Amino acid sequence: MTVTQQRELQCKWCGYTGALESVSEHVHISNAQVSMQHAVWRCPQCGQTTAVAQWGRDLQFSYKVLEYKRLFRRSTWVAIYDVICAWCGSKATEPAEVNVTVANPVSQRFRYDLYGCRTCGKATAISYLGEIRTHCAERDDVYRSLWYLDPE
Ligand SMILES: [Zn+2]
Ligand SMILES: [Zn+2]
Repeated sequence: MTVTQQRELQCKWCGYTGALESVSEHVHISNAQVSMQHAVWRCPQCGQTTAVAQWGRDLQFSYKVLEYKRLFRRSTWVAIYDVICAWCGSKATEPAEVNVTVANPVSQRFRYDLYGCRTCGKATAISYLGEIRTHCAERDDVYRSLWYLDPE
């Protein structure tokens, strides 16, 4: 494993800007904002991983990622976004589920992840295509795996 210094590369977890350690040149991230190859870097300071996709010279997408190791198969990488609770505005959110089923998506192109709020306990759904959009999310009373965006 080589330690490579890449300019303008920053750990998304702790902000460390020193040399990050290359984990992989190209991984597939199941909920990336752009469908491009992502490189993954590990931070020597906090030990967390950051994914980076470079578009041309100027545009760089980078986010926190977590690796889910699977037995005898390639790891799944999941992006973790900074989400503000759509119900109460709290920043104390944490990822709950990737790619949930939504009954009323804004667009069929969108996929949704679910975040839980530690302040109010409610769920926020995000879509992440190009930009992060947040919605209040409510679980169906009967079909517990089905979610509704922005209920009345
Ligand atoms: Zn770090
Ligand atoms: Zn909240």
